[in-house]
Order: sequence, then C-alpha cells, then structure tokens
Amino acid sequence: MRKEYQLSSIDFDALRCYTEIPPAAEALLDHPEREVSFDLNLKIGPNTILQANAYVVYANTVRGPAKGGIRMAADVTLAETRDLAERMVWKTALARIPFGGGKSGIALDPHTLSRFEKTAVLKEWVHMMQLDLRHGMYVPAPDMGTNATDMAVIFGELHLPECVTGKPPRIGGLPGRLEATGRGVSFCIQQTLAEILHLPVTGSRIAIQGFGNVGSYAARYLHAAGCRVIAVSDVTGGRYQPEGLDIPTLAAYVATNGSLEGAPGRVISNEELLLLEVDVLAPCARENQLTEENASVIKAHAIVEGANGPTTPDADAILLRRHIPLVPDFLANAGGVIASYVEWRQAKSGAMTEIQETFSIIENRLALGMQEMLSLSERHHIPLRMACQVAAAKELVASLRDRDWI
Ligand code: NAD
Repeated sequence: MRKEYQLSSIDFDALRCYTEIPPAAEALLDHPEREVSFDLNLKIGPNTILQANAYVVYANTVRGPAKGGIRMAADVTLAETRDLAERMVWKTALARIPFGGGKSGIALDPHTLSRFEKTAVLKEWVHMMQLDLRHGMYVPAPDMGTNATDMAVIFGELHLPECVTGKPPRIGGLPGRLEATGRGVSFCIQQTLAEILHLPVTGSRIAIQGFGNVGSYAARYLHAAGCRVIAVSDVTGGRYQPEGLDIPTLAAYVATNGSLEGAPGRVISNEELLLLEVDVLAPCARENQLTEENASVIKAHAIVEGANGPTTPDADAILLRRHIPLVPDFLANAGGVIASYVEWRQAKSGAMTEIQETFSIIENRLALGMQEMLSLSERHHIPLRMACQVAAAKELVASLRDRDWI
C-alpha cells in the first residue's frame, strides 16, 4: 500500500527508459522511510516558553546512515525537509559514499535567538533524537541557519565524534569542510568550461548568485584559478565588474560587514545578475531562482547549480529546449557531503586528515561523477540532470539488491 507522502523530484517514468528500476525499488525510493515531527519546548523565563516544530526525515538508508543537515528557518516545513532528504539519497549514491539520505528542519529564525537560546534549542533537539544519534542512524551536519558551533554543541551532548559532521577542526572537525562545497562547485565549473564548453579556464566569465558559504568559496577558488568572476550577489544585491571582480577584497568586506551591502564596485540586482551573458552562471543562494519567468532570457552558456533546487522544473524544460547545459545540484554541490564522509571516517578511525587530502578526495569523486554524467548523457542523448539520476539509480538499485531489500 502506498504511503501518504510521495517524494517529489525524481521522474521514475522517465528514468525507466534508461535503466532498469524494478517496481519494488521504486516503491522504496519514492517514499520516505521515516518521518518524525516533534515540538521543542523550552522554558526561557518565568512563564515564557519557546516552542518550535522540528522535523526529521530519513528518505532512504539502504546505503548507510541517514546523512543530511539541520536547517533552521522560521518557514521550514515537513515537505521541504522531505525534499531535501530525498536529494541526499541521490547525491550520496552518485558520489559513491556509504550514506543514506536524511534531513532535519527546526522552524525557528536563528537570527531571533541569542547564542544561549540557540544552544538550549539544540540541546533539546539532541535530547529528542539521542537514541538515533547514539546508534549512528542519523548523522547531522550544518545547513542553512546552523553552523560549526551548533555541531560542536551536538557533539558536546553525546561525546561521540562520529555522531555529527561539520564540527570545528579543533574538536574533531575536518580541515577543508568549511570550504568543501564551494571547492567542489568551483571544480565542477572548471570541468564544465573544459569538457562541455571547450573553453580555457583562464579568462572565462562567471556569475555567482549567493555569496555565503558555497558561493563565496566557489568565487575564491575560481578567482585563484584565473577565471573572471564578473558578478556576485547576496540577499542585499550584487556587484559587477566586466573585467572580473576583486574577490578576496569582497570576501574580506563580507567577513567584516556581514553582507555585500555598501561594498565597493558597480551595483547590480540579483535579477540582472541571472541574465548576464557569461560562460557559466552558478546559482549558489537558494531554491527556485531560475524560473519560468527568467529561463527564456538567461544568456549564460552553461549553468552549474551550487544551491539545492535553484531551478524550477518549468525553467529546467525551457533551458533544455534552449540547449543550455545544466550540471545539477546533486553532483555540483556534493563536495560538502563528500567532506562529511571524510570527517565521519576520521572520527571513527581517530586518524587525522590534511586539507589537501580532503580536497583531492572531493575532486576525485566529482571528476568520476562528471565523467559518468557526460558519458551517460552522450550514450542515451539525455540531459545532464537525467544522466546523473540514471547513474544514481543504477547504484541505488544495486545497493537495494546487495541488502536483499528487493
Ligand atoms: P549561506 O546562508 O551561507 O549563504 C546563502 C547566500 O545566499 C547568502 O549570501 C545570502 O545573502 C544569499 N541569498 C539568500 N537569498 C537570496 C536571494 N533571494 N537572492 C540572492 N542571494 C540570496 O548558505 P550556504 O551554506 O552557502 O547554502 C547555499 C545553498 O547551497 C543552499 O541551497 C544550501 O542548501 C546549498 N548547499 C550548501 C552546502 C554547504 O555545505 N553549505 C552543501 C550543499 C548544498
């Protein structure tokens, strides 16, 4: 019998044209294994209670513990948490790391909390989740609204180094984890230039929406590799320089001032940034940025998705018709979860990892993913997103058979 909730972003009918997906596999992959909703209740003063809805979704754990970040945002929902958990299933399978897909949501605006209150909320969350965390069934990490200090709080409650990733390096975190996702996005952009657009990396024109963790590190590595990062933006707006922005100066400005607001340089709006003629456009901010409204006028020669879900299905179809190649999120931003795997392995073994080792593991995995994507796309004449889904589906079906789940 089908469960009430179905997962959303995978078109199994289309996938079945290119790879075998037995009905039992689809039944397992198309529904979350487990969804938990609970209240976090905290007394924060005489007669004052802080309450928040919390959601934890394990989409599928055939390949290992549910892996996925904790998103803290006022408007986070169970449906959003489910969608993000599902993406982790396909991302970890494509990257060939032994994790399943999970995600957590805490419906609170972290900016309204003091550090003391946020720590108390997280301790309560650990209290509610401790059995799963102690048994290694779910391994959280930072996502929007949570950070390395928050992961240190979780570690501190359980004293199990492998129960959480994204910790500060001094307390068992991984050198390079902070930079990992942006490093991976930068690598995928360079591969896109070389392998898809057949352009030199040096002097190529890149626009990046989102100058937070993912976007700013991607920009720094691309700048260092000789690309011209001609535009970057955050929620306050963007900066544009056709000859290439001085990314280290902008990154230092944001580190001091918190955003690009007031930064030196020519101002550009987010919408204008998305429509610039560039070699690669990298949406690295949030979901639903490339839409039916702007997809037909985007002038980028290729798109590399740094954020999760930045392209709506309608926009995806338009970009496809316009022959604009798009490297999907679950390959392009997999550097973070690959680094999380290295941190988890380090925590379990007690070994230390050098930053270059982290980066070379990320780049090796992403290079394999890119090659697999390109060869499946060429063999079946399918878009890059579908090619990544075919590769991940093959891996997931084989994993289901390995565990005798089908
Ligand atoms: P972040 O909070 O550090 O940065 C987000 C950036 O986007 C900020 O600069 C913010 O100002 C900007 N932004 C927000 N709304 C915007 C808007 N409407 N227009 C333009 N800019 C806007 O978050 P992050 O960790 O960099 O994550 C960004 C995306 O990447 C999210 O979709 C996240 O799920 C995804 N992701 C992050 C990681 C990771 O390791 N951090 C890993 C995989 C995927």
